[in-house]
Amino acid sequence: MAEDKKSWKEIPIGGLIDKAGNAAEYKTGGWRTFKPVKNDKKCINCLFCWMYCPDSSIKVEDGKMAGFDYEHCKGCGICASVCPVKCIDMKKE
Ligand code: SF4
Ligand code: SF4
Repeated sequence: MAEDKKSWKEIPIGGLIDKAGNAAEYKTGGWRTFKPVKNDKKCINCLFCWMYCPDSSIKVEDGKMAGFDYEHCKGCGICASVCPVKCIDMKKE
């Protein structure tokens, strides 16, 4: 019901950062429409995907690409574009 909703003057200001370093708390993966999926057999662990990912969503363990942080990956596809052996596919969610 429209009458139950607050007016724009009563709701909190959008984009407000109420404490420093809290970006990780926002699960931005929910914005995604395409999901990166890696073919483990083809990956050469060059870490180009890690270097270029704008959301720090490439996991690295022991110097090797260890998958994606799907809670924060927004599905931009940059990792798939830069992968030299084309082992990342963007799949529709
Ligand atoms: S860019 Fe491709 S080959 Fe390189 S680590 Fe990432 S997935 Fe593996
Ligand atoms: S799709 Fe974009 S946000 Fe997700 S892991 Fe690849 S480069 Fe990072």
